[in-house]
Order: sequence, then C-alpha cells, then structure tokens
Amino acid sequence: MEQKGFYKLPELKFEYGALEPHISLDQLKIHHQKHHQAYVDNANNLLRKLDEARLADQKIDIKAIAKELSFNVAGHVLHKIFWESLTPAINRQDEPMGTLKAEIERNFGSLDRFKREFSQAAVSTEGSGWAALTYCRTTKRLMIVQIEKHNVNVIPKFPILMVLDVWEHAYYMDYENERAKFIDAFWKIVNWVEVNRKLEYFMSKA
Ligand code: FE
Repeated sequence: MEQKGFYKLPELKFEYGALEPHISLDQLKIHHQKHHQAYVDNANNLLRKLDEARLADQKIDIKAIAKELSFNVAGHVLHKIFWESLTPAINRQDEPMGTLKAEIERNFGSLDRFKREFSQAAVSTEGSGWAALTYCRTTKRLMIVQIEKHNVNVIPKFPILMVLDVWEHAYYMDYENERAKFIDAFWKIVNWVEVNRKLEYFMSKA
C-alpha cells in the first residue's frame, strides 16, 4: 500500500494476454510488473531519501538525485501513457475518429503520412526511447517527439497524447531485435478512442 505523496503502479485496463498476438502475455507482464514497477520503486526511494535527509538535515548530492528522479519519474509517466495508448483488438476502432482524425489530416495531410512519420521516429530512436504524439497549445499543432531514454528531447508543457515504447525491454521477447515488426504490431492495438479523448481534453484547456 503506497502512502500519499508517492507514485503507484497503475493497473492495466486489460488482461496481460489481451494484446496477443501483437504483444505476448509474458512480454506484457514482465514489462508492467518488473520494468514499470522498477521506475515506480526507484522514484519513491529517491523521494524517501530526500525526505529522510531533510528531516535529519543531512547533506545530499542534489545533482545526482535530480538526474535520477527525472529519469525514473519520466519512466513511470511514459509507461502509464503507453498502457493507456493500447487496447485489445476486440475493443478497438481501426482508425482515428472525430477531432483526432480531423487534426491528423490537417497536420499531416493523411493518416498514412502520420503513421509513416511516427513509425520513422520510433524506428530511428537511438538506443532506448519513445516516439510520442504531442499537442502544442500555442501553435495548435500536433507534433511528433522522439524521446531518448525517458527524459531527453521532452518539450515542457507539451501534453502527450500517445506513446510507443521502443526500449528493447518492450519487445525483445516477442520480436528479438526486430523493432520495426513491433512498431507494425503497435498500429493494430492503438487505443484511438483514448488518444482522441486526450486530444479533445487538451484542446479544450488551451
Ligand atoms: Fe518500457
């Protein structure tokens, strides 16, 4: 039981096997229960370390802690959005609808063009990282961001509508080194309803 003031691993809205054959039960389970949980635990441990040091007025290495905190909190936040970006094939809409469809067409010309750009961002991420679809409230544009690790290239205040995790831990059990195959599979389990909901929410707050 987590206390208030700490991070918590969110429950998935579907069973671990529900995304098969695109993501296997074993792959999803280890990703959620081990990798995502580790970011939650690491972030909470850092917060506890800060609390304890402040209470005892002990010296800390704030540079090192701030760096680790950024990495682990961002890892937690991105994984939460990643799970929200996915849905079992049985529940899903095949294509974006409503506002999201209109904004994708306005910004990218077509859904196909958007998918190619997003896939390119995902496949070309160096080392470990993410492709993210974000919304700029100033220019009212959809923007693709290629995040390295969990926290490099992030643009402050750009809300994230959808993310794809391309760390090897996300796909290696299912696809080994073939990241492009995992990216193709991702398009078959995108939760367009949720991505549209997020977009409409952030547009209404602009
Ligand atoms: Fe991950």
